[in-house]
Amino acid sequence: MAVIGAGLGGAAAATTLQQAGYDVTVYEQAGAFSRLGAGIHMGPNVLKIFRRMGIEKQLEQLGSHPDYWFSRSEDGDYLSRIQLGDFGKKQYGGAYITVHRGDLHALQMSTLKAGTVQFSKHLTNLEELDNGVRLTFADGSMAVADIVVGADGINSRVREHLLGAEAPNYSGWVAHRALIKASALEKYDLKFEDCVKWWSKDRHLMVYYTTGKRDEYYFVSGAPQAEWEGGDSNFIPCSKEAMFDAFQGYHPTVQALIESSEQITKWPLRNRKPLPLWSKGRMVLLGDACHPMKPHMAQGAAMAIEDAAMLTRCLQETGLGDYSTAFKLYEVNRRERASRVQAVSNANTWLRTQEDPAWVFGYDLYAAELKAETETVA
Ligand code: FAD
Repeated sequence: MAVIGAGLGGAAAATTLQQAGYDVTVYEQAGAFSRLGAGIHMGPNVLKIFRRMGIEKQLEQLGSHPDYWFSRSEDGDYLSRIQLGDFGKKQYGGAYITVHRGDLHALQMSTLKAGTVQFSKHLTNLEELDNGVRLTFADGSMAVADIVVGADGINSRVREHLLGAEAPNYSGWVAHRALIKASALEKYDLKFEDCVKWWSKDRHLMVYYTTGKRDEYYFVSGAPQAEWEGGDSNFIPCSKEAMFDAFQGYHPTVQALIESSEQITKWPLRNRKPLPLWSKGRMVLLGDACHPMKPHMAQGAAMAIEDAAMLTRCLQETGLGDYSTAFKLYEVNRRERASRVQAVSNANTWLRTQEDPAWVFGYDLYAAELKAETETVA
């Protein structure tokens, strides 16, 4: 099998498939990965998958364990207090972790069989043969695979092959991101909580620690901006002045965070409408290649990892020879949940007020009964 893309979804697909005994090669366009400045949440729904992959404990050691997700108004009033920590572990069956994305990715990559990732392999073309798919890469090399898993992100080449060229939509929102040394915050007489989302009518700032030692703090915003000025770039630098302007009137804690940030970057938030198909022939999509979303629920990568585990489960159910039934099973068992998360994430309502997060965090992919592939997809 060929997995295209070694992001968080592709790495999870390769690991779960390899652990199930399949012969998998991952093709990644990047020459190498670096520790880019960003954090990520991993909820109990993912920790249960990492348990099977054998990296749950290591992630628990790497990351921060917030006892609550707080939502606060721009003035500081509490809008919700969602209990996590030990309560969440008991209630939802796994820890809730915030961590540096690069650290998480490196941990996931460490679970792949040695020598099964090929870097600097930018997929340019796919050709269906009678008994496989021929892949062509930008360096002129080729490979043939029985099954191709498109885990190549929002600009997926595999999606384009299946559905035609179509650029993703700019959502009209950007995200500001920055890491902060926790020591830089010591001078303020303010409370810096483990996991808190500050909200006003049309924008927000999500803030949390990215290490177990709690020596690195991080924020990611969501803010409206009519046009994206950065062309095709994934991000551009942002000045502190522009960020102060965007969060004028917010609580002194937010002002202190902007003041203390090392380097702020600004990212365009792009998305797509739900796709009419998730697979065709020997090719199947997962993660952002399949259902990209605005990141406001902190579950985009979680959905990619759930997809990966479900795809593997369905292939194990049918056997590789009947991959087309496996792909149908996979879509029937993923589309409804992924589309619901995509819709809630895009609407940016998640945990703003007190609500029960059990439908997201309590989900256990391996305990869920498989729906038959003949069931209609919601
Ligand atoms: P990607 O991570 O995009 O990986 C795709 C990979 O494919 C890349 O390595 C790329 O180099 C490679 N590739 C692309 N094209 C080719 C090609 N032609 N040939 C070979 N390789 C190729 N999610 C969460 O769960 N929790 C969070 O807290 C969270 N916070 C977020 C904050 C922000 C600001 C943003 C923008 C997103 C956030 N997300 C979060 C969402 C999450 O980042 C994505 O949903 C997730 O990274 C998708 O993973 P993926 O593997 O599908 O795609």
